[in-house]
Amino acid sequence: MALDATTEAAPLTDTFGRRITYLRISVTDRCDLRCRYCMAEKMEFLPRSEILSFEEIDTIAEGFVERGVRKIRLSGGEPLVRRGVTQLAARLGRHLQTGKLDELTMTTNATRLAEHAKALADTGIERVNVSLDTRDPDMFRYVTRWGELDRVLEGIAAAKKAGLRVKINMVALTGLNDGEIVPMMHWCADQGHDLTLIETMPLGHIDDDRSDRYLPLDSVKRDLERQFTLVPLAERTGGPARYWKVERLGLKLGLITPLTNNFCDGCNRVRITVSGKIYMCLGHDDHLDLKSALRDGGRAALDRVLDEAMIRKPLRHDFRIAAGETDPAVTRHMSVTGG
Ligand code: SAM
Ligand code: SF4
Repeated sequence: MALDATTEAAPLTDTFGRRITYLRISVTDRCDLRCRYCMAEKMEFLPRSEILSFEEIDTIAEGFVERGVRKIRLSGGEPLVRRGVTQLAARLGRHLQTGKLDELTMTTNATRLAEHAKALADTGIERVNVSLDTRDPDMFRYVTRWGELDRVLEGIAAAKKAGLRVKINMVALTGLNDGEIVPMMHWCADQGHDLTLIETMPLGHIDDDRSDRYLPLDSVKRDLERQFTLVPLAERTGGPARYWKVERLGLKLGLITPLTNNFCDGCNRVRITVSGKIYMCLGHDDHLDLKSALRDGGRAALDRVLDEAMIRKPLRHDFRIAAGETDPAVTRHMSVTGG
């Protein structure tokens, strides 16, 4: 499909009229942990020859920014295991200075945050999301298969010291950390962190049965409402998160409930993998190849793929988690598209 220059510069809008303003970039599919709900213990990662260079990520990100993306999140895998990722963040940070981007953020497991927090803060990143499912060292080692809680806590403390705001992401897991939700709320309130609880999603083969661990957050919310006053906040991020102020604690609490509630109507995001694929929905396998387009046809070809992506973005995901169903809804792991 040949498009003239005017069409190519048009803001990204899908066929349902949703403006795409948020891009998640997975900068690596590798990770130094193996969280049980996310990965199998033995994982096959992409050969290095298949992954986008930082120059290519930068060019692709610029293509999105010029078409109206206002927020970029770097994720993975674990973004901080890719050497030089803070330099990539610094390059992307130029769009903050020009005012073309409102926010650049990162999601990290924080195992290496203590080394990188200062450099990240210098790039223009103001906020990081840190995954922390438990503050019990033994449970942390169990959930992540070998992680050391102390390193993560040091990373979080370093982020705070560097002036980064921290939002804790906690995947709610029946029988593992469900008893820690209220203590985690108190800790986050004391530390000045926001907290978001996440329902486990059926993405990629893992060794465990997800249905055993799936904890619907509408029941968690009902329990919390017996102890706390939750005041709904109007804030929307165009994703499946909804936010409340927990009055007594002064805590901002987010609930990400893609399974118990579907908020796809306001979806504003797409994701790119480290091999340059664009996924239009976390809950579908349909994708397009930006890397080949960029390598064969440069920015004009990239824009044509973005237009095609807007045509193919589906209305909604169709996740569900059924007892005993071991096949995930989507075979790709969360680490491929970075959440
Ligand atoms: N390694 C980084 C981290 O853990 O923060 C970034 C990548 S991780 C894939 C991004 C987020 O996805 C984390 O908060 C993690 O807990 C969450 N996640 C991973 N697999 C998930 C799943 N199957 N369902 C729900 N959340 C998941
Ligand atoms: Fe790694 Fe993050 Fe997945 Fe845990 S959730 S295995 S830290 S990518």
